[in-house]
Amino acid sequence: MKYLNERKQIVEFGKKLVTERLTTGTGGNISIFIREDNIMLISPSGIPYTETLPEDIVIMDLNGNVLEGSKKPSSEYAMHAIFYKQTDNINSVVHTHSDYATAISCLHQDIEPLHYIIGSVGDRVRCSNYRTFGSSELATEAFKTMRDNNGILLGNHGVLAVGPDCAEAFSVAKDIEFLAKLKVHSGALGKPVLLNDEDMAVVKEKFKTYGQQ
Ligand code: 13P
Ligand code: ZN
Repeated sequence: MKYLNERKQIVEFGKKLVTERLTTGTGGNISIFIREDNIMLISPSGIPYTETLPEDIVIMDLNGNVLEGSKKPSSEYAMHAIFYKQTDNINSVVHTHSDYATAISCLHQDIEPLHYIIGSVGDRVRCSNYRTFGSSELATEAFKTMRDNNGILLGNHGVLAVGPDCAEAFSVAKDIEFLAKLKVHSGALGKPVLLNDEDMAVVKEKFKTYGQQ
């Protein structure tokens, strides 16, 4: 089967959405862009992650046409394709409905720089306006809100994370949920002290050499 490795990645990270509590039911979706072939692989619509098989992953072009697959593609294919069309460094998109982040998205609030981990996402996690799920309007709104960040909140909906590969996009989605949880809990106790631009510039520099190189 062609693109077996990428299909397996979508299946595995889909299962991780459930085990790491980043979504409920069939909420959320995952895609990977194969830049050299100008096609994307995307999770099927409405199939539980625990039941999704590599052959269920749908291959599409960036204009919404299904090229291969017997299942209906994710209803959010336009919100994935727009990032592959409009950028040259994003190769994976992960969408979740994680609890705390979605709660904040219902308030149309951003997540401020209250913990250095926000450096993996951007200076703040912006929240988009509400648009209907699965619409091209949602895709445009999400793209407009993302700018050069790696993740956003989708108003009254959830989280959208992007990255050079699936592991990084997934990690951003997880970081956003962590930050959202901090905002809720620290906000319940008082007024969080925010990091300033200088603090964040230092963090971003340190992130370049963080971990095993
Ligand atoms: P799909 O099952 O069609 O991917 O939709 C889930 C979702 O989160 C819609 O926003
Ligand atoms: Zn959704």
